[in-house]
Amino acid sequence: MKPKTYKLRIGGEWVDASSGNSFVSVNPANPGQQLGRFQKASKEDVRKAIYAAESAFDRWSGTPAPKRGLILLRAAQIMRREKERLSRLMTMEMGKVLPEARGDVQEAIDMLEYMAGEGRRLFGYTTTSELKEKFAMCVRMPVGVFGLITPWNFPMAIPAWKLAPALVCGNTVVFKPASDTPLCAYELVGILEKAGLPKGVVNLVTGEGGVAGAEIVKNKRIGGISFTGSRDVGEFVMKNAGLKKVGLELGGKNGIIVMDDADLKLALEGVVWGAYGTTGQRCTAASRIIVHEKIREKFEPMLVKAVKALRLGNGLNKTTDVGPLINRKAVEKTHMYTRIGLKEGAKLLCGGKIPKMKGFFYEPTLFTDVNIKMRIAQEEIFGPSVAIIYVSSLDEAIEVMNSVRYGLSSAIYTNDVDNAFRAIERIEAGLTYINSSTIGSEVHLPFGGVKDTGSAREGGIVGIDEFSEMKTVYIDYSGRLQKAQIDKKIK
Ligand code: NAD
Repeated sequence: MKPKTYKLRIGGEWVDASSGNSFVSVNPANPGQQLGRFQKASKEDVRKAIYAAESAFDRWSGTPAPKRGLILLRAAQIMRREKERLSRLMTMEMGKVLPEARGDVQEAIDMLEYMAGEGRRLFGYTTTSELKEKFAMCVRMPVGVFGLITPWNFPMAIPAWKLAPALVCGNTVVFKPASDTPLCAYELVGILEKAGLPKGVVNLVTGEGGVAGAEIVKNKRIGGISFTGSRDVGEFVMKNAGLKKVGLELGGKNGIIVMDDADLKLALEGVVWGAYGTTGQRCTAASRIIVHEKIREKFEPMLVKAVKALRLGNGLNKTTDVGPLINRKAVEKTHMYTRIGLKEGAKLLCGGKIPKMKGFFYEPTLFTDVNIKMRIAQEEIFGPSVAIIYVSSLDEAIEVMNSVRYGLSSAIYTNDVDNAFRAIERIEAGLTYINSSTIGSEVHLPFGGVKDTGSAREGGIVGIDEFSEMKTVYIDYSGRLQKAQIDKKIK
């Protein structure tokens, strides 16, 4: 059956790409199933989307923030009603198992609701002035047209983490989703419009990163870019965005430390969930398990048994633990790292093969005897491939944790409060979990990384800073020229 054709959404109109080119989105568990045909926007199409966003800006930024928030709230209500349909569609397009897809949709709902409330806050602050009869405060202003560029691994949650704060702050948007999950993006934008978002406030352009994405990055009429994706493309964004406001959420090589005093059953659950959940395709996935050597003989067999028990399959099946990877390239990349690991001298405990299944599957893979010089201990694989590294002390564990270029998420399992606080203090990461896995962010807390993961902080109150500018206002009611720093005498 021919798949449905989806168009670009520019200025509230459905339009074809001027290039005439298109692509299809397929089900990674069953690549023969085509979910839709989508437009490949040209640079010209992106420019039209930017123009539409500019045209909608005055009206939208002039709409009171509580009213903007109300539209987000209505969108959240629609999503709640449609949660099951959206979750199933997400599993079909992205592959993650259905309970996780429900979590992804829920995260989008949570963010819409949270930012809806922000419409009645958007706090600035007032403060004192060093001069008499002078009032000082700062207020939040929108940035202008925001370019949002997103990956495929959280096809609704990540766009919502950007769209909701960008919109409540009064920006208009040009949104380019990843080419593996354009249908989820369509659904989300459709829901915002159903909730009452005026025409042109969000413009959706699908297509190639190097064409449509690059035009968003380079175009001088865009005021801010919020990008989530790989480190390499993040570097391209940084180099090409000129003087725009830029927020980058990039890759990770996250670790879980398991100390010799840890509750090993709890640690095991956290490791399996952190490492193989979403088939290892979370930016916060745990791909390094840093284990105290004293518990090697006990913990390693427990882990091998649990990993071997994971069932691969279509994410819609109740019996599936691990779904497919996103596409063939991801399977090849994961397999390449298996070969690299073996060549480097790591020992394969299980997995390491492409199973004979029709989708983009890869066996849950576990390496041991890995050291920090190996590429499998340094590079982001973004698949179900995990390295165990043994250490003899907390100091060494933290050194291993910090030995990578990335700094997104981290975790430690320990029952010693001193170990926990030392880890909080010394681990170089945006997130540290104690006795919990590396994943599980909540929308009202900041999310982001350090080092090569980029420095954006989305979510929570600080997330608003990414999508607004603080304007400082001085009101002098003294009736004379007062000079800050220069007028010495207090009259
Ligand atoms: P990617 O960098 O390949 O693509 C991300 C987006 O950028 C896509 O929409 C893509 O089309 C676009 N793009 C590609 N080239 C571009 C260019 N030259 N100019 C502008 N846009 C361009 O990443 P991906 O494969 O979609 O996602 C996986 C990566 O995202 C992983 O590295 C993962 O760790 C990271 N990620 C990070 C976070 C975080 O919050 N830190 C969250 C999720 C994913």
